[in-house]
Amino acid sequence: MNIPKTEKKRVVVIGGGFAGISLAKRLKDLDVQLVLIDKQNYHTFQPLLYQVSTSGLEPDSIAYPLRKVLKKLNNFYFRWATVTHVDPKKQIVFTTKGSLSYDYLVMATGTKTNYFGNADIEKYAMPMKNIPQALNIRSLMLQNFEKADDCTDSEERKALLNFCIIGAGPTGVELAGAFAELKNNVFPKDYRHLNMAEMQIHLYEGGGRVLPPMSSKASDKALRFLQKLGVNVHLNTIVQDYDGETLTLNNKETIATKNCIWTAGVTGAAIEGFGNDALVDRVNRYKVNEFNQVEGYTNIFAIGDIALMQTKEYPKGHPQVAQPAIQQGELLAKNLRGLFKGNKMKPFNYYDKGTMATVGRNKAVVDLKKAKFGGFLAWYIWMFVHLMALVGFRNRVIVFFNWMYNYINFDKAARLIVRPFTPKE
Ligand SMILES: Cc1cc2nc3c(=O)[nH]c(=O)nc-3n(C[C@H](O)[C@H](O)[C@H](O)COP(=O)(O)OP(=O)(O)OC[C@H]3O[C@@H](n4cnc5c(N)ncnc54)[C@H](O)[C@@H]3O)c2cc1C
Repeated sequence: MNIPKTEKKRVVVIGGGFAGISLAKRLKDLDVQLVLIDKQNYHTFQPLLYQVSTSGLEPDSIAYPLRKVLKKLNNFYFRWATVTHVDPKKQIVFTTKGSLSYDYLVMATGTKTNYFGNADIEKYAMPMKNIPQALNIRSLMLQNFEKADDCTDSEERKALLNFCIIGAGPTGVELAGAFAELKNNVFPKDYRHLNMAEMQIHLYEGGGRVLPPMSSKASDKALRFLQKLGVNVHLNTIVQDYDGETLTLNNKETIATKNCIWTAGVTGAAIEGFGNDALVDRVNRYKVNEFNQVEGYTNIFAIGDIALMQTKEYPKGHPQVAQPAIQQGELLAKNLRGLFKGNKMKPFNYYDKGTMATVGRNKAVVDLKKAKFGGFLAWYIWMFVHLMALVGFRNRVIVFFNWMYNYINFDKAARLIVRPFTPKE
């Protein structure tokens, strides 16, 4: 991979997500050779992907080049490659661009979409885990509106304008709210000859409430916000199948739709090669101890969504959200420094800063340890936290400007079919 061999220890980090860059940034002055490998050459701010899907933001405002994030590091190498497997005995990482030996390896590969074994849904539904997928959703939505404007068959038109989102976690709720805002504020101006009442937004959730990871107060409030915006929320409803034309529910009801978005689950993006004890099969996450060392190895660590650290408070592992990933990256940087000095490592203690989700303008919910609330203040806090968490000053300025523009004009300006999407046959 054209990376020079030196006397220094080589630390290889796989994945430049929240966990990977949180770690790498803090290894700045450590006397090691640091190699970051990612299949994308940019960091993605996943919490705002839904705004790319719904024309609120351009993709480059939520992405940041990994080489630029880490430009201040000495002895740093980035390689744009997909890691295919690891040989822990020989201490080698295999990638699509060649292989590389390591002294220390950090797995920070995050998650991928989980279809729970349903091949039809995997083939026909739209996932939203990365920027190309978010752009596919944007293109499909706009293409279907263009087709609907052309269409004289009312049944066909309804299918083109039915938007079905499966999974009412934060992503599904945020997406449904954003589609509703397009319906209420934006599309009536673009498609003046279409009957906007034909655009229906359906949100399906297998459990009994929206936002299952949040408090019941937040769920109730979010449900009311969604209903106020005109979203049809279907609780205790499991989607069994989707063939590209028809969605089938567990009560055998069917709905014709050309827009089916799957946000119902994720599973670890684990890489092959580790011993049987290292992986928890059910969730595809690496079992780690309190220092994030992968079970059975002392020089291999896992951080972020891919790591499963069982504690008394989190017997199923930490929630797969940004904060545990960032905090584990921070601690591992300190621990690696300590390790090179011969010090003992410190155990990980998660500091839960709270959770939040937004439904739309002036509508968000926030769960903090001491307070749970919703509405304008929650929305304001949601915006502030997300702006501050974005990587790169330029991105913060662009997103802030876009949000202000959208707020004042009731607009979402990125309504562009730049790269048309071809649905699978
Ligand atoms: C749509 C969406 C919305 C979300 N909203 C929120 C939110 O509002 N708040 C919140 O806290 N969390 C949210 N999350 C969760 C949050 O984004 C994750 O918890 C966080 O990204 C985990 O960080 P990570 O570093 O573990 O993984 P990631 O950020 O997913 O990074 C993994 C990296 O590894 C790379 N990679 C994976 N496999 C390979 C391979 N084989 N070879 C090379 N590179 C590889 C990927 O390209 C990626 O860059 C959301 C997630 C999604 C998908």
